[in-house]
Amino acid sequence: MSHDADIARIAARFGLALPVPVGRPFPAHVPLSVQPDDPKFPHFANPVMRYAVDYDAAPGTPVCAIRAGTVIYVKADSDRYGYEQTFADDANLVCLDHGGGLYSEYIHLAKGRVFGGLGARFGAGEIIGETGLSGCMSDAHLHLNVFVIADGAPYSVPFTLQG
Ligand SMILES: [Zn+2]
Repeated sequence: MSHDADIARIAARFGLALPVPVGRPFPAHVPLSVQPDDPKFPHFANPVMRYAVDYDAAPGTPVCAIRAGTVIYVKADSDRYGYEQTFADDANLVCLDHGGGLYSEYIHLAKGRVFGGLGARFGAGEIIGETGLSGCMSDAHLHLNVFVIADGAPYSVPFTLQG
């Protein structure tokens, strides 16, 4: 993809916090670009979620903003999930605009457990919701994706979490 160099440069400018409260273990084995236990819907096959991370988190795990940002999309009314693409639109999620062209999204949140509506501001590390069962998934996890908009389309970017 010709955008790769630009996208990596944009992503490298930002220091990003952990998506869960500090002190929670972040399993070192969590892959950064693929889901080896998920051969059906691998991240890398889709530029939109190419570098997304699946965080092994039980339902009810608090989810934190990885950087200060404003909610530009939120869905929290679903309790439907299953391991088929047809459930993709049933995922509860929050999308944050961090400014500077950087965005993050937190997918598979619990029904009614999102703590800010459209336009809400969250600081880095603030809890934006809790994980749950919603959308296209086999087991509970947080799907964290960081992306930029290039030519009108979202492109997942590699990122490093600190904490
Ligand atoms: Zn995922």
